[in-house]
Amino acid sequence: MTELERHTYDVVVIGAGGAGLRAAIEAREQGKRTAIVCKSLFGKAHTVMAEGGCAAAMGNANSNDNWQVHYRDTMRGGKFLNNWRMAELHAQEAPDRVWELETYGALFDRTPDGRISQRNFGGHTYPRLAHVGDRTGLELIRTLQQKIVSLQQEDFRETGDYEANLKVYGECTVTELLKDGDAISGAFGYWRESGRFILFDAPAVILATGGVGKSFKVTSNSWEYTGDGHALAMRAGATLINMEFIQFHPTGMVWPPSVKGILVTESVRGDGGVLKNSEGKRFMFEYVPDVFRAQYAETEDEADRWYKDPDNNRRPPELLPRDEVARAINSEVKAGRGTPHGGVFLDVSSRLPAEEITRRLPSMHHQFKELADVDITAEPMEVGPTCHYVMGGVEVDPDTAQSVVPGLFAAGEVAGGMHGSNRLGGNSLSDLLVFGRRAGMGAAMYVDSLQGRPKIAEEDIDTAAAEALAPFELEGGENPYTIHQELQQSMNDLVGIIRKEEEMEQALGRLAEFRGRIAKMTVEGHRQFNPGWHLALDLRNMLTVSECVAKAALQRQESRGGHTRDDYPGMNAEWRKLLLVCSLDADHAVNVVQKDQIPMRDDLLELFELDELKKYLTEEELPAHD
Ligand code: FAD
Repeated sequence: MTELERHTYDVVVIGAGGAGLRAAIEAREQGKRTAIVCKSLFGKAHTVMAEGGCAAAMGNANSNDNWQVHYRDTMRGGKFLNNWRMAELHAQEAPDRVWELETYGALFDRTPDGRISQRNFGGHTYPRLAHVGDRTGLELIRTLQQKIVSLQQEDFRETGDYEANLKVYGECTVTELLKDGDAISGAFGYWRESGRFILFDAPAVILATGGVGKSFKVTSNSWEYTGDGHALAMRAGATLINMEFIQFHPTGMVWPPSVKGILVTESVRGDGGVLKNSEGKRFMFEYVPDVFRAQYAETEDEADRWYKDPDNNRRPPELLPRDEVARAINSEVKAGRGTPHGGVFLDVSSRLPAEEITRRLPSMHHQFKELADVDITAEPMEVGPTCHYVMGGVEVDPDTAQSVVPGLFAAGEVAGGMHGSNRLGGNSLSDLLVFGRRAGMGAAMYVDSLQGRPKIAEEDIDTAAAEALAPFELEGGENPYTIHQELQQSMNDLVGIIRKEEEMEQALGRLAEFRGRIAKMTVEGHRQFNPGWHLALDLRNMLTVSECVAKAALQRQESRGGHTRDDYPGMNAEWRKLLLVCSLDADHAVNVVQKDQIPMRDDLLELFELDELKKYLTEEELPAHD
């Protein structure tokens, strides 16, 4: 019998970013004993790094904004592949979630008349991102943590125990979900410091583990983004959708090599920054695709006028959705018009006074000064695409966030559907607040509906423990660091921003080799804080998600959002009707099958002009629209 500590809860939330914290607050407010488990330090989730802001159609900066406009922008950004119900709930509920944060103690930047200020971002028709300088994620996490502390103080007054109903398990990694028959019964993991095992007995688990960027070499993502939640869900029998869609943010740092990939926020462009090639040309005007032509400026004069008079001018093409800008930068560099370090120039220094730059973009100013010795108030930055966000994730019911596995819920970046083939900037922070809350409610409702509590079998615990210890059992195998580096390089080179059939076939060959090598890898030392062992366990997950990305990308024979095929360059309306659904078979091999999208509800379809729908829908779908 495995030696471990055991805890019993109603709801276990895995992940302490925005989605996890909001879900936990909701579950606790619904009266459920709730645990929050996170593998990083409490407070150091990815959400903390969010810079630009949280998209919500509050209409503070432009009163024409409303949820319908936000819905339209989100669907356009995702090239109509989004789960439309999720996009609808998101657009409708985001303003309330932002207001709610202020009731928890958040303080967003203000307009001159004291309302929450909202800034421009790519793909958003109106200034829509509620923000705190370029440190919005920090305020979001700080506030959610403050709310958790206030709930714990409430619990202390009633029970004498701060952690009676809401407890945080920091630096604790979950490696397996456990089930009783079809239904979730708990989660198994280990303390990172001691290596000792821990078991959570709970009928409901909410995954809020974030993304998968660490499978790629150049990424804005930090060490936690190893696709754990995606892989845990699959091993528990859940399905993933949209895994072929990876967002390459157009502006990551390209120099020096040690910081390659670190994000340069879109706010730089939202606040007036422009992209130029080595010839000094503002090249984005050459890259406006037909579907967006009507909404974007054709001349530099018109683009520049838009910043002061957005009602009478069209937007600058630097503010196209991220997939378009990333591809354009890629093309300029390939055509030999890149910067000395293989990017393009992002210039804000010639556009805004120095004091304005340091006021609006303090983190960017600091980041470039410290990491690249570049003063962005005086010279342009060098930037290029970086793997940033995974649109794909656990297939969930939009209203309750429940996966196909009873008792398993997912919210935030680990969930799929909301963003379709491409996420708009700012729509992640709002997504994780809206669906974090819904996941907390869904899990609480599920627990209430149960007749009996699912049980955990001892042999399942032993199996989970044996799997976790397997890397110590073998001698003479490879170390996980080498395999990780090669995996990242392969994904970057072969399933990256521009994809080709033969390269993806090659990637799948390499992934099959990695599978064999991972099964035989060796970890030195013992269980006390052993990063090699931690990476070994994470590698299994990275391999699974990489297989999903590569297999789905190979199947989808079109280019759309975060999936660009050199051999199928156009969007294909027939493919828009299809989702690619990933699952694991008994041998843990990834299967990908096609599934029909549910057609959009008529009242939502009517929010679009017929001419626009013609760009996305098939001939057969159109007649249904009056
Ligand atoms: P996270 O905040 O990443 O939290 C994941 C949690 O899961 C962490 O606590 C982690 O420790 C835990 N975890 C993972 N695996 C395990 C495991 N096995 N066991 C236990 N715990 C685990 N979006 C916007 O909308 N606006 C922005 O301005 C913006 N700026 C960004 C800037 C940067 C630099 C980056 C990288 C992203 C940005 N994004 C932005 C995207 C956004 O920050 C993320 O998509 C979002 O924060 C994800 O939140 P989450 O709650 O889903 O996950």
